[in-house]
Amino acid sequence: MTDTSAVIQITNLHKSFGQLEVLKGVDITAHRGDVVSLIGSSGSGKSTLLRCCNLLEDSQQGEILFKGEPVTWKGETHARRPADAKQVLRIRTNLSMVFQQFNLWAHMTILQNVMEAPITVLGRDKAEVEASARRYLDKVGIGDKCDNYPAQLSGGQQQRAAIARGLCMEPEALLFDEPTSALDPELEQEVIKVIKDLAAEGRTMLIVTHDMKMAADISSHVVFLHQGLIEEEGTPDDVFGAPKSDRLRGFLSATQ
Ligand code: ADP
Ligand code: MG
Repeated sequence: MTDTSAVIQITNLHKSFGQLEVLKGVDITAHRGDVVSLIGSSGSGKSTLLRCCNLLEDSQQGEILFKGEPVTWKGETHARRPADAKQVLRIRTNLSMVFQQFNLWAHMTILQNVMEAPITVLGRDKAEVEASARRYLDKVGIGDKCDNYPAQLSGGQQQRAAIARGLCMEPEALLFDEPTSALDPELEQEVIKVIKDLAAEGRTMLIVTHDMKMAADISSHVVFLHQGLIEEEGTPDDVFGAPKSDRLRGFLSATQ
């Protein structure tokens, strides 16, 4: 049933790559300000699920709604792609994805990296975008790095720049794929703090993470995926404090 107050509602999502069924009927609902963490072994379908939310992948069955608007393509994906270009843009603008490997442009300064998409993709006014880019870079604590190039920043600073770039699109929701996995533990803390601040502001987030401490710390809801299905889910206290299934218990003891 459609939940009209949901920001992201995923219902019975099925996704295959050829013969390989990666998602086998997944349901997730996130309301405004929810931070939903996706945990599970490598290959369990976590990244694929995020990529479906952002139209980087199509799906075979089920539905994803972003504030009630269908994100999912059914049937002839490629045939529909051009006609749906506006929708793709709208979805990607409102549901910003932050990747594990930052994907910053090496030949642009940090400020230019953050300003690029709002100007070229959204056609927003340059001066306004610059003001908000500077504000977001300040917010993630690297306002003094505007004129530096990515290679001149530490990994934690680059990841924060990537988050600022996502925020500069003014998205309603953010998708994070292992935002801290390329970082040393101390740099990880910088990024966790930024994510916590965003949650406190009421941004809706889906976060794939291998970091159980972070998931316990920042999530309103934790989903444990196993071989393309939700094996167990609940509050961090439920999932980490009182895991019910043997698979989740095994997974948690292996990640400690
Ligand atoms: P996770 O992020 O949980 O580690 P993924 O969603 O990346 O898992 O991958 C789930 C499964 O789908 C894996 O078996 C992976 O090899 C497969 N897979 C992912 N992307 C593709 C693709 N583009 N083509 C074929 N198989 C893929
Ligand atoms: Mg992954």
